[in-house]
Amino acid sequence: MSKPIVFSGIQPTGRKHLGNFIGAIRQFVEDQDRGEPAIFCIVDLHAISVAYDPAELRERLYDTTAILLAAGLDPERCVLFRQGDVHEHTELTWLLGAVTAWGDLNRMHQWKTKREQAESQSGAFVSASLFNYPILMAADVLAYRATEVPVGDDQRQHVELMREIARRFNERFGPTLVEPEHRIPAIGARVMDLQDPTSKMSTTGGSDAGTVYVLDEPDRIRKKLRSAVTDSGREVRRGGPGDGKEGIENLIEILCVARDIDAGQVEAEFEGKGYGDFKAAVGDAVVDFLAPVRERYAALRGDQGELERILAAGAGKARALTAPVLADVRAAMGVGEPRADRRPA
Ligand code: ATP
Ligand code: MG
Repeated sequence: MSKPIVFSGIQPTGRKHLGNFIGAIRQFVEDQDRGEPAIFCIVDLHAISVAYDPAELRERLYDTTAILLAAGLDPERCVLFRQGDVHEHTELTWLLGAVTAWGDLNRMHQWKTKREQAESQSGAFVSASLFNYPILMAADVLAYRATEVPVGDDQRQHVELMREIARRFNERFGPTLVEPEHRIPAIGARVMDLQDPTSKMSTTGGSDAGTVYVLDEPDRIRKKLRSAVTDSGREVRRGGPGDGKEGIENLIEILCVARDIDAGQVEAEFEGKGYGDFKAAVGDAVVDFLAPVRERYAALRGDQGELERILAAGAGKARALTAPVLADVRAAMGVGEPRADRRPA
């Protein structure tokens, strides 16, 4: 069987959290050996869809690059680049807009949530880019004819939409693009906020106390886990729908991933023990799980010149992959100067 073409993006928010790490970054590291190629993009163009500061954006982009490298991405084994360096993404976004239904964009959960956030936070300005965000995300993936998209559960709907966009394009203009599959991890696809275990841990919208950052100091991590909201019961076990065990369930999943064990093992280990012992154990496990990343981060982040060199090399590789796809899309759509093979005699 041929190897998958893997593509995923991550926002340059700098403060990546445990949800990003478990739901996405952990997959990226493994995908370097599965994908041919495995392509990872730091999406500065997505980041400008909400209020931001240009100088800050650059800094946070370096932070995110250093976190990915510290987590184990190896620029020799994957294509790691900055979205804004590869113009094909923006060009394809416009072209795909022609086969994207306005009504589909209007149905996206993320649009609804982020629109509400923008309305309440940034002088009520809601940008058109926030609405068009899923077309850019479709362009990111379709520009490489990627077959697999490793993401957290919250991105399921966006991947469905890019499949629909590829399908509509191919129906209208002939077979050109590939419908990608999402790859959502079995455990840890939706790490919940520690203070509000009914919403996902998030860069925007969550509380600081409920969010464990990859670069948090060990004591801070332990404290956040110790203060995690649970329930008034005393059993460390998975619950059923609506029985209020979301907090404990979330901690069980986190421990499973951090220690690479399954939920049954966690339940057995903590049978008859209280929530206090359990939360302390999760805190220690998360500290050990993230420690190697934090230790490697400082040296990588310190050498901004090297980060720029890595990103530039990655952008070169990305452009070489996507330019032929863009040429096919333009030719199929009848846009721009005809290609040599389609020019009138
Ligand atoms: P924002 O809230 O600004 O959208 P984010 O926390 O979702 O930020 P992103 O950079 O948008 O961070 O997401 C990067 C990847 O992490 C995506 O694949 C996303 O699905 C995944 N992800 C985000 N939050 C979680 C979470 N709580 N659990 C598991 N995966 C997550
Ligand atoms: Mg997100």
